[in-house]
Amino acid sequence: MKALVWQGTTDIRCESVPDPAIEHERDAIIKVTSCAICGSDLHLYDHFMPGMKAGDVMGHESMGEVVEVGAAARKSLKVGDRVVIPFTIICGECEQCRRGNFSVCETTNRNKHLADKAFGHTTAGLFGYTHLTGGYAGGQAEYLRVPFADTTHIKVPEGVPDEKLLFLSDIFPTGWQAAVQCDIQPTDTVAIWGCGPVGQMTVRSAVLLGAERVIAIDRLPERLSMAKAGGAITINFEEESVVERLNELTGGKGPEKCIDAVGLEAHATGSVDSIYDRAKQAMMLETDRPHVLREMMYVCRPAGVLSIPGVYGGLLDKIPLGAVMNKGLTIRTGQTHVNRWTDDLLNRVLENQIDPSFVITHTEPLGSGPEMYKTFRDKQDGCIKVVLKPAM
Ligand code: NAD
Ligand code: ZN
Ligand code: ZN
Repeated sequence: MKALVWQGTTDIRCESVPDPAIEHERDAIIKVTSCAICGSDLHLYDHFMPGMKAGDVMGHESMGEVVEVGAAARKSLKVGDRVVIPFTIICGECEQCRRGNFSVCETTNRNKHLADKAFGHTTAGLFGYTHLTGGYAGGQAEYLRVPFADTTHIKVPEGVPDEKLLFLSDIFPTGWQAAVQCDIQPTDTVAIWGCGPVGQMTVRSAVLLGAERVIAIDRLPERLSMAKAGGAITINFEEESVVERLNELTGGKGPEKCIDAVGLEAHATGSVDSIYDRAKQAMMLETDRPHVLREMMYVCRPAGVLSIPGVYGGLLDKIPLGAVMNKGLTIRTGQTHVNRWTDDLLNRVLENQIDPSFVITHTEPLGSGPEMYKTFRDKQDGCIKVVLKPAM
């Protein structure tokens, strides 16, 4: 089959690889009808995340049709079922899964010991991510093997286009969780850093959850316009001081809720080392690229919440923990517990409360993947979200 394969820093190729096969009785194979490129894939593309090997198949936002089911997965899946695949592989049985903390499933990361040793932390097994998260082949491909498939899926009905359902795999629940964990009150101002696909879903979620006011921050005009269309007031961080403007909009008190939908991208353009160096150098707010976490900590209203869906790795220095402590801020973060939210979110899509396809700017065949990684990373051609179609 054809798949997008990681071959090194900024080197993704569309190559022929062996078709996946059932390896365990809980597996299923899906024929991918649509898949997307995510901001998290860019951390691998830029090689900020360690643990990649040449030949790894990329992708963790996929959906399609079940074409083969292992014996133990047949209790909940059959050939022909239409499914969206969450980016987190979940066993459904461990203590964390039973509590709904799916992104820290204790069973599915087969390289858990390596991650624990290297970083002192681990996650569930993730599709198309590093070997530290299990090294599972991803779904930017014609076919995908889904381990623990009896629990790792979201069944979706026929007759609804892929585009409305695909983002249940990641960015819609990610934006939703980022907003839910802010515990939004009707009088709250919610400020969101980053208007990429995750930021866009976060804006819509904060509006749906009843925030009085949503403020979205980025520098790219097309992304700011999309956030504005979703109900946000916008700030262009290249044109004005984010902290000053946020204070001005909130009578000097700051937003009650602050969300970082940026992650690693804001801090570096090189390697993990340079992220660390930048963070060390950047002691004040007045740096060339504002440091999102520091801005949030300084500007957030006392007793407020900092929600961090943005992905971080390694060490970050010069975090004003004194501000967090003395203002009594709450920090909520994590990989998304996708399946915790998807029954509710699927209903909201089917009831037309939201159509997540609004973020799509590019729909291309799988073979254009390598070029699309570059377009998405460099924010060229008005690119906000890329969907790839293996059959196109
Ligand atoms: P993206 O790269 O398309 O978007 C990031 C946006 O942040 C860009 O529009 C960029 O211009 C903007 N930005 C950069 N510096 C900024 C600054 N200083 N202030 C304000 N905005 C700034 O990526 P995305 O797909 O939207 O993903 C965003 C983050 O969410 C990534 O770190 C990704 O890894 C993470 N993510 C996390 C989860 C999770 O489970 N927690 C899931 C999906 C994605
Ligand atoms: Zn993702
Ligand atoms: Zn589990």
